[in-house]
Amino acid sequence: MTGRRIVAITTADHGDVTLLEPSWCLGEHPAEGCREDVEHKCADVRLMVPTACHGPVLVLTASLVQRPFSPSDRRTLVAAELDQWHEFDAPVLDAVAAALVQHTETLRCPARRLAAPKGAGR
Ligand SMILES: [Zn+2]
Repeated sequence: MTGRRIVAITTADHGDVTLLEPSWCLGEHPAEGCREDVEHKCADVRLMVPTACHGPVLVLTASLVQRPFSPSDRRTLVAAELDQWHEFDAPVLDAVAAALVQHTETLRCPARRLAAPKGAGR
């Protein structure tokens, strides 16, 4: 057994189409859309941060996506919602991760200042 699945999806413009389902796809393919809009998608990964005023707040949602019939880009990418949804290939996603790590250090500095006892280094 290969573990690879073939799925059939009903489209509005090409009828039933069959394709190989990536192992990471949730298999949620709405029927009756256009073939070029067929999208494989994995479960969302969410970054939540705690806040003092609103409890946990969603900062970033990301998932793998691939549109096997897209006329513009059939690669597997990471889609992430920041200010809006964006798609990233591996090099750009690496740059995003580096920026997040850098920003983590930027946030730690005032956090440590806030946590320091009054009069210590102020
Ligand atoms: Zn799929």
